Amino acid sequence: MAYSGWRIFREALSGNKGWERAWRDPEPRAEYDIVIIGGGGHGLSTAFYLAKEHGLKNIAVLEKGYLGGGNVGRNTTIVRANYYLPGNSEFYSHSLKLWEGLEGELNYNVMHSQRGLINLFHSDGQRDAFVRRGNSMINQGDDAILLDREGVRAHLPYLDFDNARFPVQGGLYHPRGGTARHDAVAWGYARGADQRGVDLIQNCEVTGIDIEGGKVRGVQTTRGAIRAKKVGIVTAGRSGQVAAMAGMRLPIESHVLQAFVTEGLKPVIDHVVSFGMGHFYISQSDKGGLVFGGDLDFYASYAQRGNLPIVEHVMEAAMTLMPMIGKAKVLRSWGGIMDMTPDGSPIIDKTGIDGLYIDCGWCYGGFKAVPASGFCFAHLIAQGRPHKSAEKFRLDRFNTGIGLMDEEGTGAQHNLH
Ligand SMILES: Cc1cc2nc3c(=O)[nH]c(=O)nc-3n(C[C@H](O)[C@H](O)[C@H](O)COP(=O)(O)OP(=O)(O)OC[C@H]3O[C@@H](n4cnc5c(N)ncnc54)[C@H](O)[C@@H]3O)c2cc1C
Repeated sequence: MAYSGWRIFREALSGNKGWERAWRDPEPRAEYDIVIIGGGGHGLSTAFYLAKEHGLKNIAVLEKGYLGGGNVGRNTTIVRANYYLPGNSEFYSHSLKLWEGLEGELNYNVMHSQRGLINLFHSDGQRDAFVRRGNSMINQGDDAILLDREGVRAHLPYLDFDNARFPVQGGLYHPRGGTARHDAVAWGYARGADQRGVDLIQNCEVTGIDIEGGKVRGVQTTRGAIRAKKVGIVTAGRSGQVAAMAGMRLPIESHVLQAFVTEGLKPVIDHVVSFGMGHFYISQSDKGGLVFGGDLDFYASYAQRGNLPIVEHVMEAAMTLMPMIGKAKVLRSWGGIMDMTPDGSPIIDKTGIDGLYIDCGWCYGGFKAVPASGFCFAHLIAQGRPHKSAEKFRLDRFNTGIGLMDEEGTGAQHNLH
């Protein structure tokens, strides 16, 4: 069923009785050509592009809970292409271009809103770093505008310009950055994959990976054994645990990241804004809630909830930047599990086991990567060689030390990226 304005109108007149399920609920089959473990954004987009770009059909996505119940439905929805280093720069640029055509491609309203992102700077050193970053973005073909203090004030008049602990000196403006509705992205890819014949199997936890003679043969699940010629691991914060089922030890630590949303307010913040003197970022959802977050909780954990010290830290950063936020009531907060690599950049690669592939290490920036990650991982699985915009995301860089992409210059500390 194609979605359209006309369809909504017609359904409204007929009591909304004609809508169909967005995807089937199939029983797992005994064998597939390709099994994708993990029904988050990256797993679903991988399955979609395997079917759409490579014409493959005999594919299953196995999800231990419900589709979109992981980080893809828990993030603060920021979409941007403002990376600095070769490797990351071309990949996120590719992703943003896919975002720009995504609603048409999926026939699904993911509410992609290019409202503009402003990264604030508060010192001369930070300004220099943003000038370099902006030039790198422009060289990549993306957009970047350096704003001085008055330029920032024109866009964000509600910031504290008069009495701030860390005075705002300016900002790097990325007009094509913005937000998208996170769970709609999961649903849109799920529907698109299902329409192309992919089996999306929920409540199906993978408990083992079958390997014989150095080759993957299938998986064990809570719904029985499933044979497969190729298996892709796309399990974000659980990547270390799932890879361990194949005897692998990944360079990943799992950490909690929290997010917060206030009661619905009248429109006040019409960009995405990030603070330069602490880890804090904010936007306003279409329902009016202020959606914001900050740092990791700084301890390794598989719990999808965080603790009070980071709540305090995030609220302090918010108050420092925009004191008016003190009047808003926080409605909800939640946590997700981040798959942190030592250099803060991801992995899309084959493993040492024939037919077993891995896509992980998205840290806290993997939502914006959903389209290109799926596109490039599908390319790798289908063609056996990396896509050109993801060819630097190699697993062995953590063995050799060659090709590390330390985007933020924070060193080899998982929890500092
Ligand atoms: C609070 C917060 C804010 C964030 N903000 C942003 C942001 O603003 N911008 C941005 O770009 N990124 C952001 N991120 C990061 C982004 O959400 C993640 O990097 C990205 O969603 C991870 O990929 P995914 O969607 O595939 O993960 P998930 O949705 O977590 O998918 C992985 C799936 O694997 C399943 N799984 C795990 N183990 C098994 C198993 N054994 N068998 C079967 N299935 C299994 C899980 O249930 C899960 O559904 C944020 C994350 C959080 C938590």
